[in-house]
Amino acid sequence: MKVGVPKEIAEGEHRVGIVPETVARLVKDGFEVLVETGAGRDYNLDENYESAGASIVGGAGEIYAEADLIVKVARPTEDEIGQMHEGLVLVCFINGPQNAQVVKSLAGAGVTVFSNEAIPRTSVAQAMDALSSMGSIAGYKTALIAADTLGKYVPMLSSAAGTTKAAKVMVFGVAVAGLQAIAIMNRLGGDVFAYDIRPETKDQAQSLGASFIDSEDEKEDDEQKEEYEEYHPTGFNKFMASLGFYSFAEPPRDKYIVEGEEEPEEDGEEKDQGWSKEKLDEDQKLIRERIKEMDIVITTALVPGRKAPQLVDRAMVESMKPGSVVVDLAAESGGNVELSEPGETVEHQQVKIVGPVNLPSAMPIHASQLLSRNMYNFIGHITEDRAEEKNEKEPNLALDFEDEIMDKMCIAHDGEVRHEPTREALQSASKESEAR
Ligand code: NAD
Repeated sequence: MKVGVPKEIAEGEHRVGIVPETVARLVKDGFEVLVETGAGRDYNLDENYESAGASIVGGAGEIYAEADLIVKVARPTEDEIGQMHEGLVLVCFINGPQNAQVVKSLAGAGVTVFSNEAIPRTSVAQAMDALSSMGSIAGYKTALIAADTLGKYVPMLSSAAGTTKAAKVMVFGVAVAGLQAIAIMNRLGGDVFAYDIRPETKDQAQSLGASFIDSEDEKEDDEQKEEYEEYHPTGFNKFMASLGFYSFAEPPRDKYIVEGEEEPEEDGEEKDQGWSKEKLDEDQKLIRERIKEMDIVITTALVPGRKAPQLVDRAMVESMKPGSVVVDLAAESGGNVELSEPGETVEHQQVKIVGPVNLPSAMPIHASQLLSRNMYNFIGHITEDRAEEKNEKEPNLALDFEDEIMDKMCIAHDGEVRHEPTREALQSASKESEAR
């Protein structure tokens, strides 16, 4: 079985789907590997691929014509699709619903397409989860961009010239990228706050050193403050306390909650059911207040296959201090921040709003290495060794749509688009063009 690795041609794409380290493992497993010259750019040289056992070929056309399985990073262009043969298996980042026409063309060409975005987020799939490896890089880079754009130190620093305060950082969205951004900002010494609509993320954010924004915690703090601070014994109680009978100075149990005697909270139930609409609304009010104090806001709420939710509107940006920085990781999928522009840094009332695109490609060496390991595990998952001789290896494609990973990731097969959200996107596009 031949695995093909073309050079990426999309603008700004500096990654490669398979690195030499993985070629050596594939060759050991019995695969032939064809790599387009220059596919590994300056970081993975042709000679490294060759010494790992790959054959270097001059152009992508030969790879698309000869390979059985193509590992690409970015979705193919129409020109690339034109060079592909029927029965070819392609794995790449394609985001089906957003690029439904590309998926349709691939299906039309008889290509079987596996989409990295469609991977089920289960523990079995973790080793193949390129979305997570790339999300983690994006979170790391976002934190660095924010720190680099801010005209201040992130940590608190003392010097003979005085002390600078730690920057206040708010991270919205506590999934793979958000957790990495929290961890990096915490290591840089920022005062980190986090928010997500999923209750289980609270412990995760806190375990990485962030304070979770939670309107219920604030309410409890206020209640406790009032009850403990406002009790002063009066009349008979004051008199007895003055004689040394201190139990008369304690707050009466029927009116005041005494620290340490509260009922334990039933955390588990809340986590299973999610938070109530009322609580989420209260959280939003609190966020609007807290955002005014922040030096850095990082938003990471991508919703796979859909337009990103708007979390920071114009009024929130306008309430921030001059010189603050907002970095919107979701800028290219619609944006979590009303004013962000993909690939641009917008300045609005002295607040800089950065909308970085394709961050994993900005760190291509590790991004390619991690992606390549995910791809190796994926190739192992969709193939099986059918060698009859003991010392031989003969990998063959073994598609099985009863398998959850193959079923979910395979978005086109046998001439059909088999991914519901992509089919829906095609239908609505055709309805729109009929209406015109
Ligand atoms: P993602 O990029 O989809 O991030 C979205 C995050 O933003 C989520 O945590 C979401 O709750 C949050 N969000 C959405 N709307 C929001 C709002 N209005 N305000 C604040 N936050 C909002 O996340 P991901 O990293 O791709 O992960 C998606 C899911 O998959 C998560 O539940 C994650 O824990 C899970 N996951 C599981 C595995 C595994 O088990 N193998 C691996 C990776 C991720």
